[in-house]
Amino acid sequence: MSESTKYIFVTGGVTSSLGKGIISASLASLLQSRGYSVTIQKLDPYINVDPGTLNPYEHGECFVTEDGAETDLDLGHYERFLNRPTSKANNVTTGRIYLNVIEKERRGEFLGKTVQVIPHITDEIKNHIKILGQSGEYEIVITEIGGTVGDIEALPYIEAVRQLKWELGESALVIHLTLIPYLSATGELKTKPTQHSVKMLQESGVQPDILVCRTEYPLGDDLRKKLALFCNVKKDAVIESINAETIYAVPILMRNEKLDEAVLKRLKLPSNQDPDLAQWKEFLYRLKFPKTEVQIGLIGKYVELKDSYKSIAESFIHAGAHTEVSVNIRWIHSETLQPDTLEESLGGLHGILVAPGFGERGFHGKLHAVQYARTRKIPFLGICLGMQIAVIEFARNVTGLENASSTEFHPDNPYPVIDLMEDQKKITDKGGTMRLGAWKCRLKPDSLAHTIYKRTEISERHRHRYELNNAYRKPLEDSGLILSGINPDKDLVEIIEIKDHPFFIGVQFHPEYKSTVYNPHPLFVHFVKAADQLARLNE
Ligand code: GLN
Repeated sequence: MSESTKYIFVTGGVTSSLGKGIISASLASLLQSRGYSVTIQKLDPYINVDPGTLNPYEHGECFVTEDGAETDLDLGHYERFLNRPTSKANNVTTGRIYLNVIEKERRGEFLGKTVQVIPHITDEIKNHIKILGQSGEYEIVITEIGGTVGDIEALPYIEAVRQLKWELGESALVIHLTLIPYLSATGELKTKPTQHSVKMLQESGVQPDILVCRTEYPLGDDLRKKLALFCNVKKDAVIESINAETIYAVPILMRNEKLDEAVLKRLKLPSNQDPDLAQWKEFLYRLKFPKTEVQIGLIGKYVELKDSYKSIAESFIHAGAHTEVSVNIRWIHSETLQPDTLEESLGGLHGILVAPGFGERGFHGKLHAVQYARTRKIPFLGICLGMQIAVIEFARNVTGLENASSTEFHPDNPYPVIDLMEDQKKITDKGGTMRLGAWKCRLKPDSLAHTIYKRTEISERHRHRYELNNAYRKPLEDSGLILSGINPDKDLVEIIEIKDHPFFIGVQFHPEYKSTVYNPHPLFVHFVKAADQLARLNE
């Protein structure tokens, strides 16, 4: 480990879903804006080897890194707040830790020893925690421990934190994120759950250095003193985290509470340079005071759980702030879209996005939505499955290939315009076997894609098994489909467009994974601009 790397651990208490990811990302962005190089990693205590095989209803979106790791959605927040890519080293699960240890055991690397949770599993966790620090790239590594203190499955992680804190001394600190509930019957904020969760951490030998307290009302001086007294922390280490209007306001709230100063002081790092938050504040201002408004329909089959489309929703926030347009998303369940209810569901929209997904459920609804957008000239963006459905719709209704489809849902269809790639046909394992991560794509000069990206070669992240079938390129092109982005290594179609439409584009990749606060994605920016133009026309 690099001698000088500092480690910050973020644990959670009282309840889950307090926003450890946002607090970690906000702290990281404050430290980064003071000139420190910072990264964040997430340790997930579940037994899946990665979240790639999880249903979005279970765990929300699966975020894909440049190097092709399928990871927790919090990594998306880290990238959006830090404007820096993460990698497979930034996320690990219990399943991965055990798999590594068991594979070592099979190779005989433990030399006949009994393999146990302590020290073997905890050593593997510690090694993983230190990988990013050892790269020499970062002065500060923030490690978020998933789950809540007291969960049985989190115990080896807390033990690893205890050991590392002991080994690293002043180069490590623990931030405990907790909830201060408000009892409306008595009109009071209550500290007892926090006292109990800190006690639980202490029972595992970990004393938190800083408490970040989620609350609906300001904490007040007495309450801060009380928390400090009962939880063994200094009063300046009791940080209020009051509910914010947007997650992007949290870095500013944390700055006002001096979380960054509390951290730097304890890590014995200089804090003479104030954070430069001008650009961040400018973004917040544009987000808060848009000039116009658009309605965008997001068509998907997991819309009951909006976290399933986290990066798409955040990309609209970035693009909206950039263009000073308030983007209101209408969440539309693809299964509810029938020809006779289309007007009711899609009427008044200024843009239609057909979302990524897997399997046949909702297929017809998405097909109707694409046709509606194409024929009524409503700006359209199809992402991954959304692009594939746009190709199917075009093949059926323009090229005249009746019942054309994807072999994913109709294996025996007459015109498989979307089909498995050759090297996917032999694969039977589901985990980590899709076409994943960053791939190059060459753009056709003067296409819409070229106008949007303003260059001829781009790189975007993928997560899929199926592709536009090259055998159908000619009939599709002959009938007017523009194949405007091609993967140069594998000769695969990555982008499709149509003529005589204000904005109609489908992309096989996931642009949403690369949109950040400071670099809103050009596809979303131009899509929002096109939607805004339509909204102005309709006024
Ligand atoms: N199900 C499609 C495929 O595997 C699309 C995947 C996606 O939308 N991410 O190719």
